Amino acid sequence: KPKVVVVGRSNVGKSTLVRLLTGDKRVRVGKRPGVTLRINEYELKNYTLVDMPGFGFIKGRPKEIEERVKDNIVRYLEENADQIATAIQIIDGKSFIEIVERWKDKEIPIDIEMFDFITELKISPILVVNKMDKIKKNERDKILNSICEYLKMSPPWHQWKFIVPACLKKGEGLDEIKRLINKRVEVFKKLK
Ligand code: GDP
Repeated sequence: KPKVVVVGRSNVGKSTLVRLLTGDKRVRVGKRPGVTLRINEYELKNYTLVDMPGFGFIKGRPKEIEERVKDNIVRYLEENADQIATAIQIIDGKSFIEIVERWKDKEIPIDIEMFDFITELKISPILVVNKMDKIKKNERDKILNSICEYLKMSPPWHQWKFIVPACLKKGEGLDEIKRLINKRVEVFKKLK
């Protein structure tokens, strides 16, 4: 069965999406960040949904754990690349830019590193820009375009069909995410 992988920093809304896709009420939303270090797999009808632990800096968590989480995700993607139909990367539209600005001169921000890595492995991405409700309507395009530029894609953002602005808390964007997943899973099955 093809795999659909979900990655993202802690607190971006990863559990919210996993819960919506699996319908599994045991998936806990809004838990203390960094609690799950495990890779969870859910057998769905047409694919296996793989929920990765949240990566990146978490207050009070040692840097070694952050590194280990990242290494585990990278290793999983490398070892399973040929079985992965798509990788859904979730970012928080509002804090993405702040975090990137803060770190860009010191190191490559982990979200950008992860996106580059997924592309290098030739895994087709779905980029969910979540928490759009926290961004003013008249700033949305500007922010989505800067996100594009940071990820080395030219604006305007809407030419990239795999970028999905979302408000998962309200279920907005979910249909488009499902549509893209199904398309990727179908293409993947044909290629096998
Ligand atoms: P995870 O740590 O990435 O698994 O994130 P969760 O799914 O647990 O969500 C973290 C927090 O963000 C929770 O309090 C959610 O209710 C909240 N959240 C999820 N989606 C949205 C959204 O679209 N907008 C806003 N404002 N908050 C959201």
